[in-house]
Amino acid sequence: MDSINYNLTGTVFDIQRFSLHDGPGIRTIVFLKGCPLSCQWCSNPESQSINPVMMYKKSECIHCGRCIKVCKVKAISPENETWIDRDKCTGCGECANACPAGALVSKGKTMSVQQVVRELKKDATTYRRSGGGITLSGGEPLVQYQFASELLKASKSQGWNTAIETAGIGSAEAVETVIPYVDTVLLDIKHMDKEKHKRFTGASNEVVLQNAPRISQISDTVIRVPVIPSFNYSPEEILAIAEFAKTLTGIRTIHLLPYHTFGENKYGLMGKDYGLKHIKPLNPEDLNACKEVVERCGFRCVIGG
Ligand code: SF4
Ligand code: SF4
Repeated sequence: MDSINYNLTGTVFDIQRFSLHDGPGIRTIVFLKGCPLSCQWCSNPESQSINPVMMYKKSECIHCGRCIKVCKVKAISPENETWIDRDKCTGCGECANACPAGALVSKGKTMSVQQVVRELKKDATTYRRSGGGITLSGGEPLVQYQFASELLKASKSQGWNTAIETAGIGSAEAVETVIPYVDTVLLDIKHMDKEKHKRFTGASNEVVLQNAPRISQISDTVIRVPVIPSFNYSPEEILAIAEFAKTLTGIRTIHLLPYHTFGENKYGLMGKDYGLKHIKPLNPEDLNACKEVVERCGFRCVIGG
């Protein structure tokens, strides 16, 4: 096994334990900051910036004014409709430290590989018994690829299963640095049309489609498609993705993820508008026609996943 740099640091915005999704067995999901995309339906908008992001819960605020006093750049004012002027805020987190009511929360903190591994070790017995391990999610794990690679290496050295949830968007160097240490890949393919992809996610799909053949060489690769009305919710658009999946090695399963609005409230906490307000969530049975198309292409298809 290659040497591991336990002192390398990265920016993490959440660690969720006991997940039954996102790979085999029972898993811990480590959410890394930074994503080149800004999908309109993103349920983790706090992940997109590599820097810490402040969330303000108006309903919890007792208007004590401590945050206003500690902010060195004067980004907080009752006159701001969203409390924090995001153009001025540096993400230093001082206001969250000073807030007695938990109304301000900083999303994103610097952690070393050693610190993350220490968290993971709390569930080492569970991983061994269930065949589980670590899943790197985000954001896009290929953004902090050196940190991701060290985390995966460290996990493999413990005998844990390693998985990444990726949109496949990163440099060839990022892919080659991370993929050798991955057992399971959950690869998002969102749309085959590059213009539509760009309109709804902020970037063309060209890099994703270029990286997909290399990434899918991992024998346990699942393609995941978030199915979003007005974007890709039609059997024809799903068929185009399944036809592409046929050209890749290692793909046996496609997951169709019905559109949901679980992350919508986070946009308000970040002083942003949610772009798909007018769109209703889908039920699993709404995807039956899309599932049939995928199965006709020879794949196992799971709705949800
Ligand atoms: S994170 Fe720092 S800069 Fe931003 S509002 Fe809070 S104290 Fe001010
Ligand atoms: S410190 Fe917290 S409770 Fe006090 S005004 Fe600021 S956000 Fe509100």
